[in-house]
Amino acid sequence: MAELSDIGVIGLAVMGENLILNMESKGFRVTAYNRTVDKVDNFINGRAKGKNIAGAHSIEELVGSLKSPRKIMLMVKAGKPVDDFIETLLPHLQEGDIIIDGGNSHFPDTERRVKYVESKGLRYIGTGVSGGEEGALLGPSIMPGGSKSAWPEVKPIFQGIAAKVADGSPCCDWVGDGGAGHFVKMVHNGIEYGDMQLICEVYQIMKDVLGMSADEMHEVFKEWNEGELDSYLIEITRDILAHKEKESLPLIKS
Ligand code: NAP
Repeated sequence: MAELSDIGVIGLAVMGENLILNMESKGFRVTAYNRTVDKVDNFINGRAKGKNIAGAHSIEELVGSLKSPRKIMLMVKAGKPVDDFIETLLPHLQEGDIIIDGGNSHFPDTERRVKYVESKGLRYIGTGVSGGEEGALLGPSIMPGGSKSAWPEVKPIFQGIAAKVADGSPCCDWVGDGGAGHFVKMVHNGIEYGDMQLICEVYQIMKDVLGMSADEMHEVFKEWNEGELDSYLIEITRDILAHKEKESLPLIKS
């Protein structure tokens, strides 16, 4: 009999593939499945080749390949695809199995799904995953919430693959019941968009009020990124301002 996997992941777009590779690199065996089944073979024969990753060509094969309690993580487009996959999975799962939604679901949908899946005797986690495709591969921030009894089951995997702060603590802990995980992700996105708005307003003041050139603005963002404002968004703004197009003209016109 083939070795059983620690977790199954449905959804082989950028996030799903990279999370699977991250899990595998931390010692977990993963089964991969995708609605368009060709993508399973492409992945298994491509980026997953030679790794401890199995491909499933049906939901039955996916479910049959997992250790109990089964853990199946959805990395699919938010909205109806999540509800559709829950309905598809339920008849194949057993009491105590865990469905995890790692996409960008709206938190009231997650509240509803937690109640629904628990009413069927199973467990449900809705989790924010942050860091984009690079984070998914090398260490995302993970914000899980939902059926609390499921947390010890997924904790070693989630904390194992999460980004780590300087003292080694994982950027992942249980955030609460119901839709708490996706609520925290929404607040996180709100903060990020507020930060982007601030950067845009600073740029406009530098350009229209102070009359600064792109190179001068680059120098300011460079200095900011070496101090307490050090962050991904300040770093990429610094780099974009220095980027030159043909004939050495700055990409961002000033
Ligand atoms: P995506 O483009 O949002 O979704 C593609 C995946 O969803 C594919 O596996 C696709 O299957 C499946 N899918 C789409 N419509 C479907 C349907 N009607 N029924 C069944 N499956 C369907 O992929 P992604 O960018 O990797 O993101 C996955 C999730 O993570 C999303 O919820 C996204 O919002 C969230 N997220 C993304 C990022 C990012 O940086 N990209 C960051 C954080 C969170 P097929 O191959 O069969 O079409």
